Amino acid sequence: MTSAHRLTQAKRVVIKIGSALLVDQESGAIRRDWLAALAEDIAALRDQDKQVAVVSSGAIAAGRRHLGLTGRALRLEEKQAAAATGQIRLAHAYEEALARHNITVAQILLTLDDTEERRRHLNARSTLNKLLALGAVPLINENDTVATQEIRYGDNDRLAARVAAMISADVLILLSDIDGMYEADPHKVPDAKHIPEIGEITPAIESMAGAAPEGFSSGGMITKIQAAKITLGAGCHLALTEGHSLNPVRRLLEGGRCTWFVASATPRTARKRWIAGSLKSAGELVVDKGAENALAKGSSLLPAGVVKVTGRFDRGDLITLRGTDGNEIGRGLVAYSDEDARHIAGHKTGEIEEILGYRGRDEVIHRDDLALD
Ligand code: GLU
Repeated sequence: MTSAHRLTQAKRVVIKIGSALLVDQESGAIRRDWLAALAEDIAALRDQDKQVAVVSSGAIAAGRRHLGLTGRALRLEEKQAAAATGQIRLAHAYEEALARHNITVAQILLTLDDTEERRRHLNARSTLNKLLALGAVPLINENDTVATQEIRYGDNDRLAARVAAMISADVLILLSDIDGMYEADPHKVPDAKHIPEIGEITPAIESMAGAAPEGFSSGGMITKIQAAKITLGAGCHLALTEGHSLNPVRRLLEGGRCTWFVASATPRTARKRWIAGSLKSAGELVVDKGAENALAKGSSLLPAGVVKVTGRFDRGDLITLRGTDGNEIGRGLVAYSDEDARHIAGHKTGEIEEILGYRGRDEVIHRDDLALD
């Protein structure tokens, strides 16, 4: 079995595309031939029943020339302006390339906070899950126009890793300008040894990554390592490979050269561990015996099984679950505020809309957002 089996077996894949792959560095034009070939790769993955999300950079690089912002380093607000016009072009180019394969594209602009803050995390996650379930390819970039910090190349490595973790992807492919990790910088040490597989980010690996180079294309190895730390913690494998030539994902599937950062847990167990390990619980739900038994069998928590709600919490907060005997049975991310949960407690799912005036989730806590003790 080649190491590419990780990709062959994956059900959900995130592909991250850097500016330098997608946008010609001289002219600022989108490389249509490259994108057309990538669309073929994406279509081929989907033909193998995989769901695919794309995190693409390139908004600033594609937008700047349209605002006359060329030939010099840009200030933050100039980058934000360039991103605002570039993002439209980027989305349009993807939309066109994937439409040739009858694939619908859906644009999502996120900030890193959206992936870190739990409440927004739950919303972004469910929207992405829904889009994937409906057969679309989410096209994600950082929401550069509202970014409050300096926009750095390489941010999207981290964003892609957070997205992969958030949607419990099995594999993140980082398409880069280098075909993996080396024991030393191959530009400086021509016979530096390539590392095909890394299971743990040790201090030695981190020091091999060196410092990030200045410039257009790459955030350097450091941001790749940061991304790998995030994905490994989330049970997602990461493949770092060269993306300049056409059909890079096909090459990867055929066993092309790359570095695999190999996760030891599955995304599901890693997510449960993350929920179980969260310290602060904002409130409690007491559930009846029937619900307790159903949860133990792997079901979600429905409003009908909730007998008591305590504490102040919002949708997306972490809460503790207890049985009627007071024993803790688990923790989970709740889909309703405490107030709404009090209203719907004990009621059937079909009554939620009538009681609250809106149609919320069927479950108070979805089983994917639940970690039992
Ligand atoms: N979000 C930026 C853009 O689309 C790029 C950030 C990055 O390359 O990491 O232009």
